Amino acid sequence: MTYYRRKWHAMFGMLAVIVMVASGCSQSGSESGGTATSVAEATPENDGRDHSGWWCAEHGVPEAECSRCSSKAAGKFKEKGDWCEEHNRAESQCFECDPSRAEKFAKLYEAKLGHAPPKPEE
Ligand SMILES: [Zn+2]
Ligand SMILES: [Zn+2]
Repeated sequence: MTYYRRKWHAMFGMLAVIVMVASGCSQSGSESGGTATSVAEATPENDGRDHSGWWCAEHGVPEAECSRCSSKAAGKFKEKGDWCEEHNRAESQCFECDPSRAEKFAKLYEAKLGHAPPKPEE
């Protein structure tokens, strides 16, 4: 009986601590760095422009991989050494240097939506 009560007591104490930590965390998190990261992550997906969500119509590549819209994507391409200094975009997305690269991305779009993508602006 004593053992049982003591165990229950310990569990209750732990639960109280967990609840306190959890609520403390979410409060301080939303006031400090927490908000900034979640906003930064949400922006590339839906930045208010008229994209179908995943396609960057301006640049003719998937939005998440767009080296000119997503600094995250740009960083990855630079790391791999896949970068065109002259046109300031991923070399593999540089249609200025090699227009045939656009076709590879256009095919991706067509496979998904069943029609050709809008012409990129540049
Ligand atoms: Zn773009
Ligand atoms: Zn280039």
